[in-house]
Amino acid sequence: MRAAPARSIPIRTTTALLYLRISANRTSEHASIEQQRADCTALAAHLGYTRTMEFVDEAVSAYQDRARPAYQQLLRQLEESEAGTILVWHLDRLYRKPRELEQLLDLLDMRPIRVESRPRRMLRPQPARGTPVRPSTRRVRELRIRPQRRAGCASPTAARGLLHGGRHYGYLDDGSLHPSEAWTLRRIVHGYLAGLSVAVIAGELTDAGIPTPAGGISWRPTTARSILTSSRLHSQRGPNQGTWERAITPDESALIRAIPLAPRRDATRSSTTLLGALARCGTCGHRLVSTVTSKGQRVYRCRAQPSSCGSVAADMRRANRAVIAQLGRLQSSALTCLPVRAPATLLSMLEAASTEMLTAAEQYGAGKITHKAFLHRRLHPTSIIAEADADLRRHLRGRLLRQHPEAASTIGVLTAGRQRTIVDALVSTLIVQSGRSGRHFDFRIELHPRK
Ligand SMILES: [Zn+2]
Repeated sequence: MRAAPARSIPIRTTTALLYLRISANRTSEHASIEQQRADCTALAAHLGYTRTMEFVDEAVSAYQDRARPAYQQLLRQLEESEAGTILVWHLDRLYRKPRELEQLLDLLDMRPIRVESRPRRMLRPQPARGTPVRPSTRRVRELRIRPQRRAGCASPTAARGLLHGGRHYGYLDDGSLHPSEAWTLRRIVHGYLAGLSVAVIAGELTDAGIPTPAGGISWRPTTARSILTSSRLHSQRGPNQGTWERAITPDESALIRAIPLAPRRDATRSSTTLLGALARCGTCGHRLVSTVTSKGQRVYRCRAQPSSCGSVAADMRRANRAVIAQLGRLQSSALTCLPVRAPATLLSMLEAASTEMLTAAEQYGAGKITHKAFLHRRLHPTSIIAEADADLRRHLRGRLLRQHPEAASTIGVLTAGRQRTIVDALVSTLIVQSGRSGRHFDFRIELHPRK
């Protein structure tokens, strides 16, 4: 097997990039890595590529929040190439989550990158699961509330919209809320609607010693996510409204469904430091990473690599203090910017724009429209998403600041995840410039409040 190179290397335009992964998504087509490799290699030859480079993610489940190392490497490779062609067995191999599709779309914006999947004639017979679902409809459905496994079955309880089929976390058998579990449900909802990532929420539940639904001690981000997307929580039973006790309001339900459709929150980028990946380099605009110098000093710095400059670095403690010192001012100005749209309106704006975006990406990927037409088609949904996202952020920020009214003075006692969420909610751009003194790690920070 040709493994992906450890470091990105310049690729020739005669090389096609093969991305292979096992999908654990039950609704999608299945094919072994060998099968995908054979089909994609045949496709490469068919399209005239003389060389291939493989990126393989094996044993990475679609339902787990683990990173896909080969996928990330594929994106890095594309970032550093002038052009490229990605061959996949099925378009759904390229993204499992809207966030991942977004990363790819960002790249498609910047570079003439082609995405090709097997032509229809290469499709293999489908297992008897009904008609294969087109990626666009499937993705949209994934983002909606997961239908319950047994939705649609004509049992008397289903017809009445009551809970059935064993224990449901947060609920008693008669459909009323379970006292302590419902409290945990609410806690997950509060965290998510304050802008916390599911990873931070899971970490907090574990730290608080709250048992998981399965009785374990360690919460996984996917458990928190599946509770947030369950039709039970959103009081939906197929097309019917459930008649069990509501744990959340209709507004909360709309906000929970809107968040995955909005652009990724900067605070959710993995870092255990206050400003890592939130702050950007004043020279080249890339995100700063946190690192330790050979003398043991912790700094934020621009990573030196082909696409970023590596010229800016700031002492971590001083940079954190400089930002925290401004939070009080930012917090009072945030209170004057309130959301203008209702959650349900935001949700429908985001749903329509995401569908529009994905349709354009698919048509471009299938060679039906030019790169120029693709970029043009993206303008409208991109502006709708930006508009809805600004308002969504105001909703979440209001909730976050109600949980932490004294955020500016008490930020030190919060978890790193909450600290980062607060900074991200209040600050739209955070730029670190090299200081004028010319001394090492001398810097100044430029901060723009989020409206
Ligand atoms: Zn830089």
